[in-house]
Amino acid sequence: MILQRSSQLAQAMNLSALDLYTIGIGPSSSHTVGPMRAARRFVALLQEAGVQARTARVEAHLYGSLALTGKGHGTDKAVLLGLEGELPESVDVDCVDARVAAIRADRRLRIDGGQEIAFEEKQDLVFHRTKPLPAHPNGMRFIAFDADGAELLTHTCYSIGGGFVVDENAVVQEDTTPDPPFALHSGAALLCLANESGLSVSEMALRNENTRRPEAKTRAALLRVWEAMQRCVQRGCVSSGVLPGGLRVQRRAPALFHELSSRPEAALNDPLCVLDWVSLWAMAVNEENAAGGRVVTAPTNGAAGILPAVLHYLVRVQRAANEDRIVRFLLTAAAIGLIYKRNASISGAEVGCQGEVGVACSMAAGALCEALGGSVPQVENAAEIAMEHNLGLTCDPIGGLVQVPCIERNAMGAVKAIHAARLALRGDGTHRVSLDKVIATMRQTGADMSTKYKETSRGGLAVNVTEC
Ligand code: SF4
Repeated sequence: MILQRSSQLAQAMNLSALDLYTIGIGPSSSHTVGPMRAARRFVALLQEAGVQARTARVEAHLYGSLALTGKGHGTDKAVLLGLEGELPESVDVDCVDARVAAIRADRRLRIDGGQEIAFEEKQDLVFHRTKPLPAHPNGMRFIAFDADGAELLTHTCYSIGGGFVVDENAVVQEDTTPDPPFALHSGAALLCLANESGLSVSEMALRNENTRRPEAKTRAALLRVWEAMQRCVQRGCVSSGVLPGGLRVQRRAPALFHELSSRPEAALNDPLCVLDWVSLWAMAVNEENAAGGRVVTAPTNGAAGILPAVLHYLVRVQRAANEDRIVRFLLTAAAIGLIYKRNASISGAEVGCQGEVGVACSMAAGALCEALGGSVPQVENAAEIAMEHNLGLTCDPIGGLVQVPCIERNAMGAVKAIHAARLALRGDGTHRVSLDKVIATMRQTGADMSTKYKETSRGGLAVNVTEC
């Protein structure tokens, strides 16, 4: 029922490709980006309701997966900064820890950056670990009180994955955005519309985006996404040390980067050296994400390394990319990601890691296949292969941190995406399992999966590996 509501919502929202790529903050799109947006939205609602000036205290309640893994995923910090008016896309990531430390030390926060109120974190930020809200595992409720303790405003919402937040009452609201010319709602629709129009996936996706804004703006926005991905890789390659959170996970990307770039001749003897580079690009992003750095949600933060790694492979190894190809790679990937969002989920709390790393792998495989000259049936095949071999992938992060297995899993996902694209390119696009069948299987597998494997850190590696 939860999955059904989430995908119905995606259907009603008529999403754009750009919705899948948020330049935000780590470590989690559902547990950091979404909650920060939700808290910021709540302070905007206080203003709209004309009660902000009378607000003397605010309570934030986190439910289900947000409560279980929220501490490790930075949900507490995200809520505090959101209440202070910050947004994931613009918050200064270098000042986050100092800002949060100041709120905690002073026991005061400034609503929307202005009016100061007392904030006793123990009573005002409540983690309801055993009590999820009904519509989704990532529930939040914000309540404002006046100086006499009377309730001024209550707001309930859900972080449904990929940084998307929906209000409790918005579930049934229809989007009024004009219908796009190509209803790319399923793998079958993708094949049928391509057959009718003779267009590639990226061209159909671009024409859809053109109904929302001028093409030049879409292209510029996607190139900004690519720039942010590159900056993230660059930072990850030079930022050494131990990741925050208490697991004492050492960053590996800088040492790997140093080794690969100081011995380029090694690639002459070992053609698979290219896989080390792909792993490096993915891990650099996910180490930045785990450190709370600036990351592109693609389609989630936990899986943020796969698309940049595969796009780096296209640009740096295949040397087959110009700006148009990069834009088209991101459009094709988004078209595939939106099919998952519409028909299943991209939330680890709903369907496990198959919805995060699995979906990112599928998006990257299809996009790479098109970029390397694949036909639409081959693109659909590549996306299908990539998900078929991620089915059942659980979410069991150790210590509730987006570090183990997440960082390495992105490296594996990126390599698998390249492999899936290559397998599809070696065929003619005909295959036994369709993309739609694999998405339906992924959705059903997620529904059958025990809650302990869905971003709760109550099963799998999270309980079998001792924290120290
Ligand atoms: S295991 Fe996968 S879904 Fe879970 S937090 Fe890590 S990347 Fe996200």
